[in-house]
Amino acid sequence: MDLDFTDAELHRYSRHILLQDVGAVGQARLRAARVLVVGAGGLGAPLALYLAAAGVGTIGLVDHDALELSNLQRQVIHATSRIGRNKADSAAETLAALNPEIRVEVHATRLDAATAQDLIPRYDIVCDGTDNFATRFLLGDACHLLGRTLVSAAVLRFEGQLSTFKSHAGPPHPCHRCLHPEIPPDGLVPSCSEAGVLGAVTGVMGTLQATEVLKEILGIGEGMSGRLLLWDALDTRFRTVKLRRDPGCALCGEGATIRDLSAHRPAVLACTA
Ligand SMILES: [Zn+2]
Repeated sequence: MDLDFTDAELHRYSRHILLQDVGAVGQARLRAARVLVVGAGGLGAPLALYLAAAGVGTIGLVDHDALELSNLQRQVIHATSRIGRNKADSAAETLAALNPEIRVEVHATRLDAATAQDLIPRYDIVCDGTDNFATRFLLGDACHLLGRTLVSAAVLRFEGQLSTFKSHAGPPHPCHRCLHPEIPPDGLVPSCSEAGVLGAVTGVMGTLQATEVLKEILGIGEGMSGRLLLWDALDTRFRTVKLRRDPGCALCGEGATIRDLSAHRPAVLACTA
């Protein structure tokens, strides 16, 4: 691994390098890492900001949508002057201003099975910052089949959830379908655009996601695979429940029936949290 840092890099990352669990080797790992952030919205905003600030060397941003006024209540990576612009493009501009040492790859495209198949193998870790089940299931299936770790978060109203899926590494790691075998029927679970969300809740969950991504890259601490974090902002309580790998799971079980992404229709990043 390349351990050569410029003086500017050593200065910029000095608070990381001071940490025994990071150090220069950890910082070099971050610089070599490639992370794909799907959705430059409420979760993607703090997530991408902290990954960029931390010196993650390459960040891919996927978002097809144009910035709207109603996004700015929580999507703090953007600016009022950029309404109408593509959100991945707007986020990339903010990241470049924060940390010009890193590379940002903009994918202003809809995520469908073909783009997932094309993009995911180019990155080490994938983060789900979307807010619809079609994209969520596509990402979960694609990461398992393509052998990538997925750090996933979800928000609604005053609540958040977080987990990491690395079922591609085999047992005991569960996949997203061990938790939710099938996409819930339309209308059963409302989206943020239907039910609302407190902006700061997306900020906390996206920041937790960034922390888990950094831990996965650095190989430190206890990851969230096999655990689901539940947070209720109104009573300020965090709970963690165990997730178990389901031997009968259609994606990661012994008799798995999902072997490719052909069942997935094009997914729309309608409301990126
Ligand atoms: Zn499974």
